[in-house]
Amino acid sequence: MSTITEQDFTDSICDALQYISYYHPPDFIRAMTAAWEREQSPAARDAMAQILINSRMCAEGHRPICQDTGIVNVFLRIGMDVRWDSPHSIDDMVNAAVSRAYMNADNPLRGSIVSDPAGARRNTGDNTPAVIHKDVVPGDSVEVTVAAKGGGSENKSRFAILNPSDDIVAWVLEQVPTMGAGWCPPGILGIGIGGTAEKAMLLAKEAILEPISIHDLQARSPQTRLEELRLEIFNQVNALGIGAQGLGGLTTVLDVKLKDYPTHAASKPVAMIPNCAATRHIHFTLDGSGPARLDPPHLTDWPEITRDNDSNSRRINLDTLQQAELGDWQPGETLLLSGTLLTGRDAAHKRIIDLLERGEPLPDGLDFNGRFIFYVGPVDPVGDEIVGPAGPTTATRMDKFTDTLLEKTGLLGMIGKAERGPQAIDSIARHKAVYLIATGGAAYLVSKAIRTARVVAFPELGMEAVYEFGVEDMPVTVAVDTQGNSVHTSGPAEWRMRIGGIPVVKA
Ligand code: SF4
Repeated sequence: MSTITEQDFTDSICDALQYISYYHPPDFIRAMTAAWEREQSPAARDAMAQILINSRMCAEGHRPICQDTGIVNVFLRIGMDVRWDSPHSIDDMVNAAVSRAYMNADNPLRGSIVSDPAGARRNTGDNTPAVIHKDVVPGDSVEVTVAAKGGGSENKSRFAILNPSDDIVAWVLEQVPTMGAGWCPPGILGIGIGGTAEKAMLLAKEAILEPISIHDLQARSPQTRLEELRLEIFNQVNALGIGAQGLGGLTTVLDVKLKDYPTHAASKPVAMIPNCAATRHIHFTLDGSGPARLDPPHLTDWPEITRDNDSNSRRINLDTLQQAELGDWQPGETLLLSGTLLTGRDAAHKRIIDLLERGEPLPDGLDFNGRFIFYVGPVDPVGDEIVGPAGPTTATRMDKFTDTLLEKTGLLGMIGKAERGPQAIDSIARHKAVYLIATGGAAYLVSKAIRTARVVAFPELGMEAVYEFGVEDMPVTVAVDTQGNSVHTSGPAEWRMRIGGIPVVKA
C-alpha cells in the first residue's frame, strides 16, 4: 500500500504541464532533425528548420513552443493498492493542477478551453477542465501521462467503421490528403483499430503518446500483421509528398503508431488522430515517495542550425507596399516582412463581418485598406516581451469571411497557416490579393520578429482582440498568389512525382 498526497499529485501534474510547454520530447527532436537533414524540398526544409530553431529557443527561454498551448489530456493508471491523502476527487485535483500550471506568472500558458461549446463558448480562463482517463490496475503506484494537445491537429482526427474486408491502408491514404496542413505536419499519426467507436478513438490517442520508434522497426523488419501495417502506412503516407506544412516534401509523418483491440465480427472501427509540430507529452510514476522528478533535457539534444534562405529571401516593406507588387510573388517563395500589420482570428472576424454586412463603420482606428491581416491569438507576454509566442492559426476557419473582407475593406492579403479552401482561393484571385503562411509550431520564433504591439479593436476579446503589430524580418511563405495558384496543391503534386524517383523517406 502506498499513499499519494494531493500536494505531490498536483505539483507533479502542474510541473509536467509547464515542462512540456517548452521542452519537446527528445525522440521528437531526433526524428525532426533527421527529417530536416534529408529533406530536399527547400520550402519544407525551411519550415522544419524554423520548428527546430523555435524548439531550441523555447527550451532555453522556458516559453511555449506554440501559441496554442493545448487541451490537457491526462491518462492515469491507478494501482489498486494506492491510498489517496486528499478530500478531493481525482478530477478536481487534476484540474487544480491544470489551473495552476496555465496561470503561472513566469510562463503563462494560453487558456483555450471554452465552456458551453454548442452555445456561448465562454473561455474558462485557466484552461480547465482537462480530459481525464482513469484505469484501475494491480499495484501500489500511479502511472501518469500528461499531454497538451493542439486544436489544429485534434481537429483533423478521423473515424470510420469499415467493412471487415475493407483495406485500412487505403482508408488512411484517402483520409490524409483531406486533412490538409492544419495539423502542422510533419508529426505522428496515431491509429486505433477495433473495439467500439469510442474505444478506437481512445486507442488512437494513446498511440500518439508512445515514443517515436519507426527506425527500430525498419532496422529489424516487421514480425506481426500490425507491424507490417504500420510500416506500410508510414511509407505510403510519406510517398504522398505532402511534406512539412503541406508545402511538398519527403517527410509528412515522423512515425505511425498503431494500437488494436478485439472487435465485433461485423465491424472494423478505425480511428486516426494526428499529433503536430507541437508534440507535447510526458510520462511519470508516483509511488508515494514524493512528487515526480522531471529532469531538464540537455541543450545538446537540439541541433545547432540556421535557416538556409534568409539571405536569398525577398524583403518586403509592408508600409509602402502597393497592390501591383504582389503580382511578382511566386507560390513557395520565402518573404521577410517588415512594417505594420493587423491581427484577427475567429471572434474578431465575426464582429467585423457583422458590422460590414450591417453597413456600420468599423471601430475607430481599424482600417484594413492596403494592409495585411495575420490570423493569430498570441500568448500573454512576460517580462520585457512585446508579445508572447504568436504563431499562425488555421486559415480555413476564416475562409467564409474572406470575400467580404477583401471586397469591402481594401485588404491586400492574409497570413495564416495551412491551405485555403476553393471559395477563399477564388476570392483571392478575383481581388488580386495573396495569402501567405507562417510556420505552425514556430510561435516563439515568430514572436521575436514582432517589435511593437498595440490593441486596435475589441480589447474584450483578450487573445482574440485585433492588434497592430510592428514586425521586422518576419519569415513567411507565399501560399496563394494573385492568380489563385496554391503551393498546397502544386507542392505535394510535384513531390509526389519526385518521390517516385527518390527512395521513400527512411527514419
Ligand atoms: S503546432 Fe500547429 S496544430 Fe500544433 S498546436 Fe501549434 S498551431 Fe496547433
